[in-house]
Amino acid sequence: MSTYAPTKEEKERFMSRAIELSAEGAFKGHGGPYGAVVVKNGKIVGEGYNRVLVDCDPSAHGEVVAIRNAGKNLGTFELTGCSLYTNFEPCPMCGATIWWSKLDRVYYAQPVKGSTVHHEENQAQVLNFVVTPIDKRSIPGDRLRVKQGRHLTSLKNI
Ligand SMILES: [Zn+2]
Repeated sequence: MSTYAPTKEEKERFMSRAIELSAEGAFKGHGGPYGAVVVKNGKIVGEGYNRVLVDCDPSAHGEVVAIRNAGKNLGTFELTGCSLYTNFEPCPMCGATIWWSKLDRVYYAQPVKGSTVHHEENQAQVLNFVVTPIDKRSIPGDRLRVKQGRHLTSLKNI
């Protein structure tokens, strides 16, 4: 955890940049109107916007793009001491990325609840998908047991 605490003006400035990025990406047709910045000790260390369309990448949400950018810039996958500013409440995939990156805090502008039925339904469906046992999901997973390549079938001996 960082001891750095942003002022109200700093929070507004970082959120304004996230909103600016969301508009930039949407205007360019690169993806939906979602932008994000990663901040460390009062400085933007990563930023991005939704690039799902331009990159043909369903995981290229604004938050993920900003986190990837921050990781590259800082030379680490752990973003402890950093905060994320995003114009929209993170979806479950971005939430998981936030968890894995060990960010300190997330600031968001628009909550999912009360935004659109589309967003609320997507959020509920993705959450339901990941908590459903893998073999019961709408896109089911089948475990494959392979005799060779122990590193792929068992991580116990690593
Ligand atoms: Zn997302």
